[in-house]
Amino acid sequence: MKSVIFIAPPAGGKGTMSEYLVENYGYVHLSTGDLLRKKAQKDEQIATILKSGSLVPDEMMLKIIEEAIAQLDSTKPFILDGLPRTLQQAEVLDIILNGLKKNNYVVVYIDVDKNLLENRILGRCTCPKCHKTYNCKIEEFKPEVDGVCDDCGEKLITRSDDNKESFQIRYQQYQTSTYPLIEYYQKAGRLKVIENNSVDQTSTLKDLVGVLSD
Ligand code: AMP
Repeated sequence: MKSVIFIAPPAGGKGTMSEYLVENYGYVHLSTGDLLRKKAQKDEQIATILKSGSLVPDEMMLKIIEEAIAQLDSTKPFILDGLPRTLQQAEVLDIILNGLKKNNYVVVYIDVDKNLLENRILGRCTCPKCHKTYNCKIEEFKPEVDGVCDDCGEKLITRSDDNKESFQIRYQQYQTSTYPLIEYYQKAGRLKVIENNSVDQTSTLKDLVGVLSD
């Protein structure tokens, strides 16, 4: 299987797809959002940025990225989830991946209607222990017991940036900073597009496996 870089709007499904690839195909998963949320527990500056929905500045981000990528298990295909978010990050990432000879990857753009995203964000809750994601506003994705993880019994949490105000800022950021990456990777011949507009994601996951198969 090929490695993958996901480009998707907020709540576009990169977390769910990553979870699927890790569980079923042995991928290693690097989520810059997860990494930053961990750092935010000790770093107030990062916590404030995340809560607002803005992007962490490139200078800060690039150091974090280089370190994290160097630590990826090179025997397994990787998932970059949430990275790159800007053209500058994409250019630096090219250099890092070339230097590490990690070139067998595709860039998957997950295309989702904007009106679906807000609903997904406002109902989203996650298990802090096993990272399984639920949605308390969509019947098919509710946990069996309200607010509790089906798999490990842990109390589910919601993200500080999953609210209407942050969503507007994050979506705006996505359009101005991240959306131009689609053209960048199209020109590089790496781009694949999959749609993720239905509640049942079975066909989306099938499409995903199709584009990642060697
Ligand atoms: P995510 O979990 O991917 O939705 O990311 C959550 C938040 O983390 C974003 O809204 C940004 O504030 C921050 N973030 C994640 N990845 C990046 C990145 N590559 N560059 C800058 N900020 C990022």
